[in-house]
Amino acid sequence: MLDVDGHVTSWNPGAEQIKGYRADEILGRHFAVFYPPERVVTGDPDNPLREAARVGYHLDQGWRVRKDGSRFFADVAITALRASDGRLRGFAKVTRDETDARTRQERASRRFSDLCGVIPVGIALFDESGRVVDANDTLCRLLCLERDHLRGTHAADLLHPQDRDEPLLGSRPNSPADEAVHRVLARSDELPLHCDVRTAVSVHDDGSRFWLVAFQDVTDRQQQTERLRYEATHDALTGLPNRRAVRDLLGELMHGPDAERVAVLFCDVNNFKRINDSLGHDAGDEVVVELARRLREGVPPCCTAARLSGDEFVVVCPDVGGVGGLSRLAEVVSGVLRTAVPVRGQLVRVSAAVGGVVGADAAGRGEDLLRFADAAMYRAKRGGPGRVSLADPALVAAVDGQLRLETELREAIEGDGLTLHYQPITDGRGEILSAEALVRWHHPVHGLLSPGAFLPVAEQSDLLPDLDRWVLRTALAEAAGWPAPGGRHPSIAVNLSGLLPHHPEFAAEIAASIDESGIDPRRVVLELVETVLLDLPAGPRRVMEELAEQGVRFAVDDFGTGYSSLARLKDTPTQIIKADRQFVAGLGEDGRDLAIARAVAEFAHALGCLCVAEGVETRDQHDLLAGVGIDAYQGWLFSHALPREEFRDLLGDGRLHR
Ligand code: C2E
Ligand code: CA
Ligand code: CA
Repeated sequence: MLDVDGHVTSWNPGAEQIKGYRADEILGRHFAVFYPPERVVTGDPDNPLREAARVGYHLDQGWRVRKDGSRFFADVAITALRASDGRLRGFAKVTRDETDARTRQERASRRFSDLCGVIPVGIALFDESGRVVDANDTLCRLLCLERDHLRGTHAADLLHPQDRDEPLLGSRPNSPADEAVHRVLARSDELPLHCDVRTAVSVHDDGSRFWLVAFQDVTDRQQQTERLRYEATHDALTGLPNRRAVRDLLGELMHGPDAERVAVLFCDVNNFKRINDSLGHDAGDEVVVELARRLREGVPPCCTAARLSGDEFVVVCPDVGGVGGLSRLAEVVSGVLRTAVPVRGQLVRVSAAVGGVVGADAAGRGEDLLRFADAAMYRAKRGGPGRVSLADPALVAAVDGQLRLETELREAIEGDGLTLHYQPITDGRGEILSAEALVRWHHPVHGLLSPGAFLPVAEQSDLLPDLDRWVLRTALAEAAGWPAPGGRHPSIAVNLSGLLPHHPEFAAEIAASIDESGIDPRRVVLELVETVLLDLPAGPRRVMEELAEQGVRFAVDDFGTGYSSLARLKDTPTQIIKADRQFVAGLGEDGRDLAIARAVAEFAHALGCLCVAEGVETRDQHDLLAGVGIDAYQGWLFSHALPREEFRDLLGDGRLHR
């Protein structure tokens, strides 16, 4: 016990054991004798008493001195004692010797700092002014700095110039310690060091603040993210920005102040398919790479050249005024793409159709700039190779109409707004072997539309797969209920141009439509154009073979228009070849067409296929075709494509009368 001034008034054996004084030696003396001399000088011993008198108690830890001068680490609790009238009577002071605990703690903290030295996370201690007090080896290594150089460095000087907007310390004082902030530090060689930074603020005994900061190096992860981002926005073959990058760039520019002056050029290489088909895909790739290089180097520096797909390039210009106007820019780009490219010791001449548009003409429809340029390119293409065409209000209006049509077509597919007509395919003697389903659209304004009018729309807007699905389901369901003239059910042929064997769901969708309709799979014919069948990877080919094993047949549609190699067609699982109507149309006038028809028939038979002639309009055509061994005929000579009911009636009649 102490009196109000701090003199010892009572002393127990525990106190004697810790401090070495006997009661008679210490009673009446001031308790400052327990304090080390350096703390007595600063007036320290009086503070705890004042504090205890004020708030009732005082807790303290620190070094104290025994009678023999040795020190011990004390845990001290001082409680104020008051009389019933509230007057201060003195203090009760409990002292515990914590020296062993203290040693334990020191050992632990030494172990802790050893740990800081070996963990692969950079750690630094910053003082209140934001300067490095200490740092572990990892941080020194990450920053390529000696510890002595690091000490005293201000936090702001650790940041890389690209990341100096927010201070390193205290930018988010209340963020939880486990919340990492991505920061970029500067290594001593000025390379960026990407880190996840976690900060904890703490307070020293003297009340000053300090920061403990952990830096986790995420440069690898950052580089990988950047690589992924690069890959997502760049074309792998040419390294040019891709469609997504163009969309992002245009989105940015069209929301900027100079949207009116933004220009887009859409370029499509003429006859690229022919280059690909005749010289092979590798050669085609070489041409594309070379054109990309020339385009990148040939466009004005402010412009961006990009590759959308196959042979489609785009040039985006942020300010067409700065490059002499749209037509000047279009001529430059057209000139760059009108060139000869050496491929395998051969000079391949190329040119491109170029369509252009400026933001000012886009009628506030910035997001459709690409489409307008694309439409202008199409118009250029119709004008002949190497042409340039610039969008005007009429073209923009036409594209707008097209976009409306797209929406309506999507609704028509979803809402059963389409119908199917059926055109018989006959053996030439009146028997209907099968019928081809041909899609029609009853448009509320434009009337009955044939596929030529809306398939391009479907293709533009990626609706072909949905359209094919609808046709497939509807045609098989309707055909399943057809009468069977002479006991023979005619087959049903369905054109597929969006739902193709490469499609992962192809087999499942075909099987589902067959199951749903209950039709005999042997009555199902799927018509694909020859270009789809070429270079068919093993997977899709296998899928076709499996369907063929169940009786489904595949027909090569429009045979002879795809520049395909006969040798490659030989390996595809097809059962029917449909000679394109362009050969039929020329029959009689040009002896060569008859020779071609004969060759096609013989080729088909050599492969074990049935040969069908399309577009047979006259008796003469039929007779000539019969003479060269054609197996079946389709055309107006026998019947137009008929609405569902009329076709049923025709089947009811049993035979075609020509
Ligand atoms: P295609 O597969 O070659 O179909 C034959 C086209 O020739 C049909 O035109 C048909 O009406 C027409 N045609 C038939 N006989 C004659 C004739 O004697 N003379 C002439 N000049 N033409 C004849 P349509 O129905 O306008 O179809 C055009 C193309 O649209 C089709 O050509 C096919 O590629 C595509 N198509 C039609 N229906 C569908 C469909 O349901 N799905 C898909 N994906 N494409 C379809
Ligand atoms: Ca067809
Ligand atoms: Ca055809």
